[in-house]
Parts: sequence; structure tokens; C-alpha cells
Amino acid sequence: MDAQLRSELAVAGLRSRPALSRPAGAGPSDDGHWLLDGVATTLPVVAGSPFELHAGGTLTRDGIVVEDALLEPIVRPRFYELTAADGTPYEAVARLHGTEVLATTVVQTCIRYAGVDTRCRFCTIEESLRSGTTVQVKRPDLLAEVARAAVALDGVRQMVMTTGTSNGADRGARHLARCVAAVRAAVPGLPIQVQIEPPQDLAWIARLKQAGVTAIGIHVESMDPAVRARWTPGKATVALSRYDEAWTEAVRVFGSNRVSTYLLVGLGEDPDELVASAERLIAMGVYPFVVPYRPLPGSLAHADGVPAPDPLTLARVTRRVARALRAAGMRGADQVAGCAACGACSALGGCGG
Ligand code: SF4
Repeated sequence: MDAQLRSELAVAGLRSRPALSRPAGAGPSDDGHWLLDGVATTLPVVAGSPFELHAGGTLTRDGIVVEDALLEPIVRPRFYELTAADGTPYEAVARLHGTEVLATTVVQTCIRYAGVDTRCRFCTIEESLRSGTTVQVKRPDLLAEVARAAVALDGVRQMVMTTGTSNGADRGARHLARCVAAVRAAVPGLPIQVQIEPPQDLAWIARLKQAGVTAIGIHVESMDPAVRARWTPGKATVALSRYDEAWTEAVRVFGSNRVSTYLLVGLGEDPDELVASAERLIAMGVYPFVVPYRPLPGSLAHADGVPAPDPLTLARVTRRVARALRAAGMRGADQVAGCAACGACSALGGCGG
């Protein structure tokens, strides 16, 4: 699909009632999941969007049919109907993203979230906990049980485990390692990506690999110090040089293009500088997963009325980063597991990145 139309959809969202959606949580959420021209795609669900999905999958903009787009719903997976022996619904433990990704937040609380002066302004990690749709800490044995069912019943092919940042020096890596080991024992061969802040002791990166991790996301969101200070004040206390050290160690351990980071468009960063940051990451072997900032209800930025980015800027940045990725021979799919491998929240994959 044309990057411009994909970017407009990503920003304006879609008027529809999706069968599969994610109201809140870590990372991009408040969205519905569809197949857009056969490719798993997440889009914000927006009642006032000019884009509307009609029966049969036809897409209109302001009532006029968009000829080159066909949207199919992704149906609710069968494993959502199951409940663990202790009464925990499987759906509260892990969610289906797109058609083949099982995703979970292994610890649904974050040391950064407690204070408005430390919380990332786009984040809603604890809102799904407050709404009662998930549990705070996912037990490794329960995750293994849910993963086994999701693979057997719904054809899941990869898993993403993210975590809120803990107080410990491992920054959450210890529990992630336990969860990965349990899932890999239950479903050998299931590729798993973990997402984490740089641990204080970088030896945790090799320990995660030993536990069975396939790929790792160490997410900085922006490389612009002023943007970091404004948007991610808690995480910004971790210096960019520390991110560099963590990415370098992760590439040493996992290999080139098995490490990724999110870069958000729409936080006020100069587009040329954002592309330059992406190129620097690519040169290190780190995949920059470029996604638009989403104003999520429950986030500080949404309360402040910060709008989604201009779709033209998003399309231009995405095309330029995709070009740099192609030149380096880096494809999201080669991460095997994780957001870059899934690609549903970004237009990069559609541009060949
Ligand atoms: S890109 Fe990441 S957050 Fe988006 S649907 Fe895929 S796995 Fe989930």
C-alpha cells in the first residue's frame, strides 16, 4: 500500500467496531487489528475519522470508496475462551496481536509511571491493570500454558514480552528470563522477543539469550535530548550513552538486526534529525521501528490535547528510513520475533523496510 495512505490511516484512524482490539496497555494501543491488503495492521479506532470500514471490507474516505484498500477483520482467537485452573482468563495473561503474535506485559507496573514528572507522556501501561483486563505479574507457568494453547488453537508463530521497569538493577530482566525459559520449555522453537530498558548490569543481556530469547528491543523512543526530557523524563535519566552501550552489547550477543528500538514520529523532533538517528542505529545493526505517536486516552499527552502527527511528515520519514534499511539489507521480518518482525504498527514493512 502507498505509504501516504497508510500514514493517513495510522494517524486519522478508522470508524469501525473491530473484532480484535486492545483498549490500553504498553506501547501503541487503543487500536483494532485487521488485515490490510492481506498484511496484519493495527489502526486507532476513532469515531470521528473520515475513514470508515463497511461490510465486505470496503474502505471509504469521506464517503468515497478508497479503491486500493481492502480491510478484513482479524477474528477473536479461540484461546481467549479458556481460563486457567486458578480462574485467570487466558486473555488477561497474553493477547493476540495481528494474526500470529502473542504479546504480554510480564509486569504491568512501572517505576516511571508513579509520578507525572517521571512517566512517559504517551504511555498507558497501568490503565489496563486499573480497568481489570489484565493481571499485574504474569506467572511463568501460566504464560507457558497460554502460549501452548495459542500456538495449538490459533497458529501463533512468535511472542513478544515487554515489561514495566522494575526497581532492581536488572530492570525487569530477571522475571523476563524466567518467563522466556518457561515458554520455551512448553513450546520449543517459538521465537520470543523481549523489550526492556538498559539493565544496570549488561550481563543480563547474555542471560536473556541463554534463557532462550531470539531478539531484543531496547526502546529509546527519541534520540533528541530535549524531546527525551519532555516526553520520557524518567527514562531520560538513563543517558543516551548508556543506550549505546546496551545496543552494542545486544548486537554482540544477538547479532546484527536482532536488536531494535522504537522511534516515535510526532514528539516534536526535527524530521531530518530523526532520520539521521535512524541511520546511526542502522549502522550499529539496530532496527529503528518508526511508528506514529498515538494520543491514547489515559495518557498525559492525551490529557494535554497533543494531536497525532502530520501524516505527510510520517510518510516522508517512514519512506526515508525504509530506504536506509533496504540499503543496509535489514528487513523487519529478519528479526524473527518482535514488533519489527510483526510490523503491524508501522508502515515500514510496506515500504520494504
Ligand atoms: S508491532 Fe508490536 S505492538 Fe504492534 S501489533 Fe505487532 S507486536 Fe503488537
